[in-house]
Amino acid sequence: MTSSTRTPFLCRTNLRHVWEVAHTDDGARFVRCAKCLRERDSGPGGNVTGPGAMSAGSTSGISGGGF
Ligand SMILES: [Zn+2]
Repeated sequence: MTSSTRTPFLCRTNLRHVWEVAHTDDGARFVRCAKCLRERDSGPGGNVTGPGAMSAGSTSGISGGGF
């Protein structure tokens, strides 16, 4: 396969994807990225939220650093 389409930086780094709902011929619904067509990993819980939502603590004051 040749990478003709250019994958966005956020997709390559797996930081953010543009999730969209797609349907297979069987009518099954799945979520994929509209940019890189990567299928979203469906966890065991099946409860998916937005990318990077609510995972970061909203504690104001001490910042562990990182970025
Ligand atoms: Zn993507």
